[in-house]
Amino acid sequence: MERDRGGDTTGPVEHGGADVCVVGAGPVGLTLAIGLRRLGLGVRIVDAAPETKREARALVLWARAREALHSLGVGAALDAHGVELSAVTVHARGRRLGELTTGWAHSAFARPLNIEQHVIERLLAAELAGLGTRVEWNTELTDVKVHDDRAEFTLRHGDGRVESGGAAWIVGCEGTRSTVRDRLGIAFEGRRRTGLQVVQGNAVPTWPLAGEPGRGHIFLAPRRALLVFPLPDGGYRFFCFRDDPDPALGSPPTLDELRDLVAETARMPGLRLAPAPSRWLNRARFSDRVAARLRSGRGLLAGDAAHAWAPVGGHGMNVGVLGAHNLAWKLAAVHRGEAGDALLDTYDAEQRLLALRYIREMRPNFMELPLPPLGHRAFTATVPAALARPGFQRRLDLRLSDLVRHHRDSPLSVRVPTAGRASGARAGDRMPDASVVPAEPRPGAGGPGEAVRLHRLLAYGTWTLVLRADRADAVTLGALRAACAGTVAVRLLPVTPADARAEAALGDPAELRLVRPDGYVGLVAPLGGVEPLRAYVAALATGARAAARP
Ligand SMILES: Cc1cc2nc3c(=O)[nH]c(=O)nc-3n(C[C@H](O)[C@H](O)[C@H](O)COP(=O)(O)OP(=O)(O)OC[C@H]3O[C@@H](n4cnc5c(N)ncnc54)[C@H](O)[C@@H]3O)c2cc1C
Repeated sequence: MERDRGGDTTGPVEHGGADVCVVGAGPVGLTLAIGLRRLGLGVRIVDAAPETKREARALVLWARAREALHSLGVGAALDAHGVELSAVTVHARGRRLGELTTGWAHSAFARPLNIEQHVIERLLAAELAGLGTRVEWNTELTDVKVHDDRAEFTLRHGDGRVESGGAAWIVGCEGTRSTVRDRLGIAFEGRRRTGLQVVQGNAVPTWPLAGEPGRGHIFLAPRRALLVFPLPDGGYRFFCFRDDPDPALGSPPTLDELRDLVAETARMPGLRLAPAPSRWLNRARFSDRVAARLRSGRGLLAGDAAHAWAPVGGHGMNVGVLGAHNLAWKLAAVHRGEAGDALLDTYDAEQRLLALRYIREMRPNFMELPLPPLGHRAFTATVPAALARPGFQRRLDLRLSDLVRHHRDSPLSVRVPTAGRASGARAGDRMPDASVVPAEPRPGAGGPGEAVRLHRLLAYGTWTLVLRADRADAVTLGALRAACAGTVAVRLLPVTPADARAEAALGDPAELRLVRPDGYVGLVAPLGGVEPLRAYVAALATGARAAARP
């Protein structure tokens, strides 16, 4: 169904309920709903299923998604139910090739957290309920129409009742078969992955390997890559990327099939597998697809509804969560009339690019993709030397952590050069979690003169202008405040770098960094002339009134 371009955008509007209707209570819909609720919006969240998922899906939260969830106030609950992955031993042909270590990034949550997707969903749903919004289970969205000033939709309830609903905005987070995407007429572009099958299950092995907490394993064999990660409640998730000799076979694997696959790939013929507490086994095939647009007026897409790919690298859920973190503050700002409608288009541009880059990057991921015998032999011959190099370990860890992913190509990322050499975090980069001493201590973030991590001084939903404390005289601060007046709310944060790493991250002392509400650098500009700052914040607000709910 296309967008209705008619209608009055200036008069008062009855949305018949919530500010935002979120369709789908998977990890992405729940994250989005929490972000929107934290920013004060009224949210309705519906899901066709009777409860949170009961199957083996994602298992790992990488560093950047952990940071994002912590900034929404839900990280601690997740940490309490997960186990950090500290190292992964790589094996091939019955030999140990070396190990990958994690935690190279400068982040409070540098290591990946192993936690099952269904647990994440349960905890996020509980957090959302604490914010006053309960998931409406057994409620399927069957139709949507977006107008210039509202979205109208049809819901089918579990008892057969059909409801016509409305909201100012609707966001499809209902997975790869998104009804919102379909009704908005948005193509899901890409193709099916052939020759790749994923067999996974939770089990407790009896094998010769020591059960070290936080240690995973990768076993490489011709046409197979087996990843084995510890589960927080005991046992392991066995995750096998393999060739697809029988593409018609759709039934879930048995524990015996998983056992044979593991025993053969790991070269452990005597291996035994017992069921783990969550005894789930599944077989999946995948497509690599990205929606042609993530927005059609007041209808948006997030998570698997927007982009999906084979879980090589284990990032589908993570990139979806980061998208929700990116979208919530933008949607809230536009809805409240604090930012122009164009801000939402930057979500589309940034998130599509992130997904397309991810798909491209994962194609040559030979640590997880099954290789034919010759390719396997050639690749595994290079692995021990690569794993012995700290530089390789660090690069791989940073890439997997998502901390180095950026929005440098976004229209929201602007650098106005200073006279000095470009240094420090660039426009579009995640603001580094540097160790700094704030000029004024913040409640709960260290005492006077005490160094704290910069991220503790940021707040989700708020723009923060970071500058050097020794340049923050009253005249400069007054000029910066005046430049932002009447536009978006900006908090000034004068800080002193506490170490050399922070010095490098903050770059030229003559520069300011305006950090977005989701922790990425929006503007890098000279501290001396405030015109670039004034122009940047004014551009954010342009058209704000027209886009906002009256
Ligand atoms: C086998 C497998 C392994 C994976 N492994 C990993 C991994 O290791 N790491 C990783 O990061 N990702 C992994 N993924 C991907 C990850 O599971 C997804 O990216 C993630 O579930 C996406 O979350 P989502 O909230 O967008 O959608 P989903 O989790 O699919 O949630 C969508 C929700 O929408 C509901 N819904 C659907 N249609 C409607 C409708 N019409 N009306 C109302 N509700 C509706 C559904 O009931 C569901 O609850 C894996 C996926 C699979 C299948």
